[in-house]
Amino acid sequence: MSQTASYSLMVHGGAGALDNVKDDKTAMRYLEAIRRVLEHGREVLELGGSALQTVETCASLLEDDPIFNAGCGSVLNEKGKVEMDAAIMDGRDLSAGAVAAVGNIANPIQLARLVMSESEHVMLISEGAMRFAEHCGITPAPDDYFYTPDRIEQLKQARLHNKIMLDHDDTEGDSEDQKYGTIGAIARDPLGNLAAATSTGGIVNKRMGRVGDSPIIGAGVYADNETCAVSATGYGEEFMRSVISKTISDFIYMKDMNAEEATQAGMAYLTRKVNGRGGVIVIDHNGNCSSGFTTKKMIHGWIEQGGESVVRF
Ligand code: ASP
Repeated sequence: MSQTASYSLMVHGGAGALDNVKDDKTAMRYLEAIRRVLEHGREVLELGGSALQTVETCASLLEDDPIFNAGCGSVLNEKGKVEMDAAIMDGRDLSAGAVAAVGNIANPIQLARLVMSESEHVMLISEGAMRFAEHCGITPAPDDYFYTPDRIEQLKQARLHNKIMLDHDDTEGDSEDQKYGTIGAIARDPLGNLAAATSTGGIVNKRMGRVGDSPIIGAGVYADNETCAVSATGYGEEFMRSVISKTISDFIYMKDMNAEEATQAGMAYLTRKVNGRGGVIVIDHNGNCSSGFTTKKMIHGWIEQGGESVVRF
């Protein structure tokens, strides 16, 4: 079996209306970013990197791109502050690390990975997470690394319309031409190991201290070598209440579904139980890739079984 024939990789850049992607230039910018990250992830896998290393690398690259709602491009809360959530999970032994409501961290996914490998905990939040970051030698990123003029304008619009919204959703009638999205990466390496990572600034104009699904194991992220790897994006409250990522994994574990069947069953469950808005990317233990969303669009891409990269809305 050749090394390149048996890995799979998927990334997403958020779900929503994406009404802003009206012109080809904006669409290309998103799709190129997703393709670039996929190809970088391919290199990591072909050089022998694990699924875990690959999802951490891909998520970090997406956090570093200001067009996405994670890391430097994070949306702002009701106080005009950045509070980010992230989680990573290793399907080999269900080990996981997560951080919530952190500011001034350039790559929350890397901090989540350190929580997993260097602490005895699964999740650290807010000030405690920042203290742990310092303990790990992470230099805080300055405020101006995060606050882009687009994010300030987006919060203004959300406040004006008294809305709490997904990054990719429009406030009625506004004419913003730039939107961004939560990010996620999942992989299956040639050894058959699965891993998942999700990172976000959350939802626009959220309450201070609000934590979404992204750092919650089983809601915004899940990986188990026996079933699948999942990363979710959408209205976190609905994803937490339906424990959507673990539900999809359970469909595979208990009903012997493949990625496609489990994704469809998961989206049907999400809609029927909580009318959930958002989407997921899924790789099953055989390396099949699948995606599903209840919003108009979701920015995502995949490499299935070492094949060509495909990018889509
Ligand atoms: N799921 C994220 C949250 O609720 C938002 C998103 O996916 O865009 O925090």
